[in-house]
Amino acid sequence: MAQPYDHDNVFAKILRDEIPCKRVYEDPFALAFHDINPQAPVHVLVIPKAPYVSLDDFLAEATDPQITGFFRAVGKVSRALGLAESEGGSGFRALANAGGDAHQDVPHLHVHLFGGKPLGPMLAKQPESPE
Ligand code: 5GP
Repeated sequence: MAQPYDHDNVFAKILRDEIPCKRVYEDPFALAFHDINPQAPVHVLVIPKAPYVSLDDFLAEATDPQITGFFRAVGKVSRALGLAESEGGSGFRALANAGGDAHQDVPHLHVHLFGGKPLGPMLAKQPESPE
C-alpha cells in the first residue's frame, strides 16, 4: 500500500521556500539543488514539483507530461553541471532510493546526481554478514 504524501517533508518545505537551498536549476516540472551533505564533489538533488513520495509512486501515478518533464530536467541538470559526456564531462551517476530497503530518508521523490570524480562500483561493498 502506497505511503500517503507528507506535506511537511523537508523537500516540500524547500519547494514552498520555507527553508533555503542552493538552487542550480528550476523549470515548471522540477527543482534541482545541492545536497546539504554531499557524498561526491558534485552532489545535486533533482525533485519533481508535484507531490510524489518516491520513484515507485511517481511512475505509477504521475501524468506522462510530468514524467517526461521531470526526466528531461534531470538530463538538463546533468549537462548544465558539466557532468554529461555529451557536454565534455566525465560522466555521472543518477540514483533514486525508493522505500525501506533503499534507505530513502526524505519521502519526496529525488534523483541524486553524483559526479566530479571516479565514483567506484555501483554499491558500496558491505562487510560479509554471518548467515
Ligand atoms: P535519501 O536517503 O532519501 O535518498 O536522500 C536524502 C538526501 O537529502 C540526503 O543525501 C540528505 O543529505 C539530503 N537532505 C536532507 N535534508 C536536506 C536539506 O534540508 N537540504 C538539502 N539540500 N538536502 C537535504
